[in-house]
Amino acid sequence: MAKKTLKERFDAKVKVNGESGCWIWAGSSDGADYGRISLNGKPAQASRVAYTLYRGAIPEGQVLDHHLYPEGGCIGPACVNPSHLLLTTRSENSSRNAWKRKTKCPQGHPYSVENTKIERTAKGTLARRCKTCSSKYIRQWQLRNPEKVKQYRANTKLRKAGKQVRSVPARNTKAA
Ligand SMILES: [Zn+2]
Ligand SMILES: [Zn+2]
Repeated sequence: MAKKTLKERFDAKVKVNGESGCWIWAGSSDGADYGRISLNGKPAQASRVAYTLYRGAIPEGQVLDHHLYPEGGCIGPACVNPSHLLLTTRSENSSRNAWKRKTKCPQGHPYSVENTKIERTAKGTLARRCKTCSSKYIRQWQLRNPEKVKQYRANTKLRKAGKQVRSVPARNTKAA
């Protein structure tokens, strides 16, 4: 059997995500979510290989940006869909996207799908939030503000009680 071409080896490691259209790299990674494939016996970045295979050479000094990540629903570094990759200059990319390449929050928790939520900032841009840290901040705030928590819980209880009182006759009508 003939030796597999680079494209054959590449295609065999790609899993298409129907929802986002991302091509998820199922091969090895560099430890920071970027896929790896061997190119002429050396490890190469799978997204760069994807771009070269499907769209053409990457000009000297240019880098690839996952331009649909995260706002466009792209999963980011692990995606190798050439149409989710945009050529950009290194300096442009690093100033605009430095935050995207960080794979961990300042406390070291991974920005994984499960641990990340996307929120709109006061400036109107989208930002990632570490869920672990967010819930920790909430707990710390609750410890510092026990009176407010008590008040909040009491209000919630009242609201719930009010709802139940109103919903009882409605439920009875339905059952009858
Ligand atoms: Zn993608
Ligand atoms: Zn965190």
